[in-house]
Amino acid sequence: MIVVFQKQTPEAEVNRITEIVKGWGFSVLQKELNGRTILLCEHAQKTPYPDLISAIKASAYVESITYNSKPYHLVSKENKEKSLLEIGGGVQFGEGFEIIAGPCTIESYESLSEIAKQVKNIGVKLLRGGVFKPTTSPYSYSGLGEEGIQILKAVKNESGLKIVTEALHVSHVEMLSDVADVIQIGARNMQNFELLKQVGKIRIPVLLKRHFGCTIEEWLCSAEYIYSEGNENIILCERGVRTFEKSTRSTLDISAIPLVKSLSHLPVITDPSHSAGDRSLVSALALASCACGADGVMLETHVSPEVSVKDGAQTISTGELRDLYRKLMAISSIVKEANQVFQPL
Ligand code: PEP
Ligand code: MN
Repeated sequence: MIVVFQKQTPEAEVNRITEIVKGWGFSVLQKELNGRTILLCEHAQKTPYPDLISAIKASAYVESITYNSKPYHLVSKENKEKSLLEIGGGVQFGEGFEIIAGPCTIESYESLSEIAKQVKNIGVKLLRGGVFKPTTSPYSYSGLGEEGIQILKAVKNESGLKIVTEALHVSHVEMLSDVADVIQIGARNMQNFELLKQVGKIRIPVLLKRHFGCTIEEWLCSAEYIYSEGNENIILCERGVRTFEKSTRSTLDISAIPLVKSLSHLPVITDPSHSAGDRSLVSALALASCACGADGVMLETHVSPEVSVKDGAQTISTGELRDLYRKLMAISSIVKEANQVFQPL
């Protein structure tokens, strides 16, 4: 960090700021250049220090301050080049392409069991399904709760599929801990900091969705909350952001995939279902995500989407999933081959 004072800054002010900076554990070297005092500050740890920056900026004598402006560090590329996340059962995020499929919400044992059989038969290894549903309107269906957990357990046991399911509240984390292989934090809870800290205390992988109104930096700060509590097992999920476009539910931010990959070592997947809100767009968005370097996709899938209890319009059928799965595997191997053949010189 470099702090430049205005000309004729009183010595007492330079000393005051120097003491504050040292108090944060920095080594400080003071230089004079063209009538200005400059502080060169270095810290052994790369953790961001936003409160220190605010304190320095509050001085009326500081002309400029140069610092690493990223408010996160542990999830950044500066900390680690790449994360590979093993879920077990041959599932690994960060290498290859993983597909998560299943209904928006768990409806009954019979329906989930049939969906699980069919998606497994296609080759999918991860089954999604909510038992706690975040709903914009309080009058919408909000999930089966405890009964849904029992159904998830039964279907997990019989199918051997890995389970991805959402926690809405701190208390849900414990409730889901013996059935979930991945705990989802939904878009609306991306900045529920108590919930983020709670999933940071466990070691179950966390699927962190991007809020539809948040920047990539805010999303990575939320991942930093989880990581800094000790849970390094994080998958980021781009699920569409709010734009002026009304013909889709949200706009899938495809550029977020390469951008996040350049900023962070964490795996990134997309959710074409919730972004499009329309099943006719899901395949194209999933294929685009794969071509763009995503580590996977999450697809709302049902045996009969037209009768699904929630989000039927954006849910694809298991028949559509079968076709899409084959195309995704083909694109993913082309991407892999292209990356091997066209290595940077
Ligand atoms: C979901 O995946 O079930 C969901 C509610 O998605 P989002 O949080 O992205 O709206
Ligand atoms: Mn849904």
